[in-house]
Amino acid sequence: MLDYSSSGPEACDDVLIVGGGLAGLFCALRLAPRPVTVVSAAPLGEGASSTWAQGGIAAAMAEGDSIEKHLADTVAAGAGIVDEKVARLMVGDAPHRIYDLLDYGVPFDRDLAGQLEASREAAHSERRVVHVSGDKAGAAIMAALVTAVRETPSIRFIGDHPVEDVVMGRRGVRGVNARGPDGIVRLLPARAVVLATGGVGHLYAVTTNPPQANGDGLGMAARAGAVIADAEFVQFHPTALDVGQDPAPLATEALRGEGAILVNNRGDRFMQSVHPDAELAPRDIVARAIHHQIAEGRRVLLDTREALGAKIVEEFPTVAGYCREAGIDPVNEPIPVAPAEHYHMGGILTDAAGRTSLDGLWACGEVASTGVHGANRLASNSLLEAVAFAARIASDIAGRFPLAERNDVEAAHDAGDGSLPDAIAVARLRRTMALQVGVERDADGLAAALLTIGELEADCRSRSFLNTLTAARMIASAALARRESRGGHYRTDHPDDDEALRCRTFMTLEQAREFGEPAAAPVIA
Ligand SMILES: Cc1cc2nc3c(=O)[nH]c(=O)nc-3n(C[C@H](O)[C@H](O)[C@H](O)COP(=O)(O)OP(=O)(O)OC[C@H]3O[C@@H](n4cnc5c(N)ncnc54)[C@H](O)[C@@H]3O)c2cc1C
Repeated sequence: MLDYSSSGPEACDDVLIVGGGLAGLFCALRLAPRPVTVVSAAPLGEGASSTWAQGGIAAAMAEGDSIEKHLADTVAAGAGIVDEKVARLMVGDAPHRIYDLLDYGVPFDRDLAGQLEASREAAHSERRVVHVSGDKAGAAIMAALVTAVRETPSIRFIGDHPVEDVVMGRRGVRGVNARGPDGIVRLLPARAVVLATGGVGHLYAVTTNPPQANGDGLGMAARAGAVIADAEFVQFHPTALDVGQDPAPLATEALRGEGAILVNNRGDRFMQSVHPDAELAPRDIVARAIHHQIAEGRRVLLDTREALGAKIVEEFPTVAGYCREAGIDPVNEPIPVAPAEHYHMGGILTDAAGRTSLDGLWACGEVASTGVHGANRLASNSLLEAVAFAARIASDIAGRFPLAERNDVEAAHDAGDGSLPDAIAVARLRRTMALQVGVERDADGLAAALLTIGELEADCRSRSFLNTLTAARMIASAALARRESRGGHYRTDHPDDDEALRCRTFMTLEQAREFGEPAAAPVIA
């Protein structure tokens, strides 16, 4: 790997990957030895949700499991709008991508016979989630990939350079504008740009995501004219640790898979009366049930004592560590939990090859919407989606641009004024999204949220915050447009699903603006 993080790049490759999480790094490795440039907002291996993943990756590899069963669970979780053709491709690719990760050195847990171990998570009908050291899958996968990237001379890495714009020319994408630590915005020219910028957690007051997951990739694609799909579908993890931290540490679903139960402070195991699968019901149902308990003034606790006892320390060292830091002893005490923004099912619309609606722009990982998650993601299908479509994009780009070119970096023509996002405005947005575009929504709240977003846009002088606001607008507009409840989208004014709306949402920024005009024209477009 050639590292240009500190010096700033003078040249870059014609294939440019934006984001250094699992999707971005896997795509770069799959393109090797073709030269590629990876540009990331953070240093290599940092600032990515991928590193924080605990449970693991879903792949039908255990005895008794099958691609058909994995597909059926994925389709059932997606609440009627999964693109089955694309989902079949993903679950079919899964075992191959696990073998790729093993080749890159990922030490997945094995049983005494040397077979890959798989655990069961919520809404999976089989034990199917391959993991590392219990709950350290993300860190171990990323450590292996970072080492592989460092050992790959064809990869040029530019860290600490947040990208602010996808720059379009007359015939499609021309490159991206990236801001260096010196404050200078440079145009990195490219024939192929792959956006792999992750999720939208920091649009919300409470989230499990790292700060770089602020929706800016989705926002810049929308500003460039890309079609955004299913933006209203946001998944709230039911069991983030309720200990006042930002981001909120996660108590993995695998704990409930191992038998941990949810109780309120009166000792009621309330999930039994909510869903036949109780604690293993789909995430949105568990998150809403906890949300209601909290709204009614009760605390919710995850009790692992009977299911795991002292084993939690060895089998779930990450969660046990978070508890210790917060002064909780999970061997002897239940863990306080609350829902937190965790995953965005929606994103930049892509096809099965990862192509977006803009020529020369691909997207993969959480920022993309391939259609495999529908209205609700099946646990541990997101790391799978990241590697499955990163590999597909690598093949597509290698076929389309077999001969590599290198271009000089240029000064950006339209770089904005470089202001940092205003902390008060960011806090206002995050509060608004949590209250009005969160676990439960209604028309009045969504309309009010769009007005707030418009006001914040009108005052916005930071290009990166404008991207974040644009992502917020896309989510709130799609949520207002969908007058029913489905999967991760729950409207208190339309609590039932509507068969006529059993379809995906596709929206451009121009269309989204029709749902809530800003109070004044944005300062920067
Ligand atoms: C706590 C936690 C636990 C999870 N557990 C699991 C699990 O067990 N199984 C599972 O399947 N999924 C899990 N998920 C979800 C999964 O981790 C993510 O969906 C997945 O890692 C996303 O990968 P990605 O490469 O798309 O994004 P990320 O890994 O978030 O990487 C995004 C990259 O883009 C960079 N970036 C962002 N904005 C810019 C910009 N403007 N310019 C340049 N670079 C930018 C970031 O710095 C980062 O390098 C979990 C998520 C969290 C937060």
